[in-house]
Amino acid sequence: MKILVIEDELKTVEYLRQGLTEQGYSVDTATDGLDGLHLATTGVYDAIILDVMLPGLDGYSILKSLRPSVSTPVLMLTAKDTLNNKLEGFNAGADDYLIKPFSFLELLARLQVITRRTHTKEETHIHIGDLHLDLLARRATRGKRRLDLTAKEFALLEVLASRQSQIVSKTVITELVWDICFDTNTNVVEATIKRLRSKLDTEGEPKLLHTIRGMGYVLEQRP
Ligand code: CA
Repeated sequence: MKILVIEDELKTVEYLRQGLTEQGYSVDTATDGLDGLHLATTGVYDAIILDVMLPGLDGYSILKSLRPSVSTPVLMLTAKDTLNNKLEGFNAGADDYLIKPFSFLELLARLQVITRRTHTKEETHIHIGDLHLDLLARRATRGKRRLDLTAKEFALLEVLASRQSQIVSKTVITELVWDICFDTNTNVVEATIKRLRSKLDTEGEPKLLHTIRGMGYVLEQRP
């Protein structure tokens, strides 16, 4: 589980980093709103812990920029405890809210709830054009044609399909499909993309898998 902490109070950042690391989470931190937004949109996280009052860009603005394209669960931290502020957070797309000072155990409990919620909320079927993915049966079809995919090819297709129309970088793919951060200069991703493409987009069918040179890959139906 990877958590992004966006918080400018260094004491709180260190407290969270240490506590979460001890619980087995890996933790990235940003102490400025703009850095935080950048990490939140480019990285892959299971949850974001987001302070409201931040230099650069406040927590509500960060959340508004993230939603709806980034659905990572967000736990907001704030010293303000009025109802209006809570509602503002939920309206902006926060999954939960914690008032400072908070107990670490409560934060941990809430973090577990919001990350579990997204995992069960996950779609079990994805449709893109005539492509259909059954995530439970691990089966992919295009029209009536069943795609004969290896486990890695299916995992790669799932990563791309669940981010339909978004550019997915090689770094993100290696992290999500191989669960490691190996040197992305290796051609493992390209080789797997190539095999997947040959099975997915056959002659006469509209292409769904597109390469964005220097950036990554997109799965989408284009007019
Ligand atoms: Ca703050």
